[in-house]
Amino acid sequence: MDSGLKREIEAKVFAGERLSFDDGVALYECDELAWLGRLAHHVRTEKNGSRVMFNVNRHLNMTNVCAASCKYCSFQRKPGEKDAYTMRIEEAVRLAKAMEPDGITELHIVNGLHPTLPWRYYPRSLRELKAVLPNVSLKAFTATEIHWFERISGLPADEILDELIDAGLESLTGGGAEIFDPEIRDQIVDHNTHWEDWSRIHRLAHAKGLKTPCTMLYGHIEEPRHRVDHVLRLRELQDETGGFAVFIPLRYQHDFVDSADGKVRNQIQARTTMATPAESLKTFAVSRLLFDNVPHVKCFWVMHGLSVGQLSLNFGADDLDGSVVEYKITHDADSYGTPDKMTRDDLLTLIRDAGFTPVERNTRYEVVHTYEGPVPLAERRAEPQPMWS
Ligand code: SF4
Repeated sequence: MDSGLKREIEAKVFAGERLSFDDGVALYECDELAWLGRLAHHVRTEKNGSRVMFNVNRHLNMTNVCAASCKYCSFQRKPGEKDAYTMRIEEAVRLAKAMEPDGITELHIVNGLHPTLPWRYYPRSLRELKAVLPNVSLKAFTATEIHWFERISGLPADEILDELIDAGLESLTGGGAEIFDPEIRDQIVDHNTHWEDWSRIHRLAHAKGLKTPCTMLYGHIEEPRHRVDHVLRLRELQDETGGFAVFIPLRYQHDFVDSADGKVRNQIQARTTMATPAESLKTFAVSRLLFDNVPHVKCFWVMHGLSVGQLSLNFGADDLDGSVVEYKITHDADSYGTPDKMTRDDLLTLIRDAGFTPVERNTRYEVVHTYEGPVPLAERRAEPQPMWS
């Protein structure tokens, strides 16, 4: 990036001016990571001070059976495949109840698009989960699943959301966004939920008072311009509704774990390389700089490892998600020695050791508890902090 443009972008950022599509592409083309981090950290500090939010949650995937075969997806199985599963509601409830002693405040539920389960299964699941865990927030279903429920029930999303909210739904999840530009989307997504329906469903959810997350799957076949287009679409919707609480850049993952039948379901891994840590940090920084109207940027540490998770806090991220157990969607794909479980204490240590103040939040991003701030730097260097045992 030439020094003139660099000065121009820097002036815009420090004046709080909105960056353009061209600015976004130029930022992605810039390899001065420390400079990008400094700008993003300025914006992150203006918005969130030195706080890092987290929550204590667990993930529940009630079925991995899916009618679609998205090319980046390692999770989906077809009916009858060796490790395909679908939980009876009683089983899901039993599993969720067993998570209670961990002090969870949120259950994060995402599933495949099951070809034969009836629509009633979903509100009934929420009702029964809420009955046994009344103090746990239910964050459930992607916009793609809601669109699927329209298809299997014949009901409009408006009525579907009303029924799910009545059954205990407090937030949608942010998945199914991937990359909205059809030039890329048509090559990787194998269902019919694209920008028009995805945005329609989140707009409806926001109108009903739900705060939702939004995501972007990066590091596969897309180019910087597709990422910028993706964020600007969401930024425009956020101008209209103000309902997105957080933006989550999700790192595309290759398969690392063999499936029971040895099949590779991730159909684009042979022609892709995964984003490096530097590319991920750049993506966090540029997202924070472009997305001026969303309060939080989350690093989902399961996809990055704990070290990149800590570094991301200096590149625009201010939320480390939750404690997470059995994250199947990418843990079927990866593992960089990343644990699939962190306790509240592990998260506190991770955040403090990175030099930030941990703040526990609820699903709506309201503060539940502000913890003691970081250990002084000199002490941290004298005695490295254990992250987990
Ligand atoms: S990404 Fe979702 S919809 Fe696509 S194949 Fe995987 S589980 Fe199915």
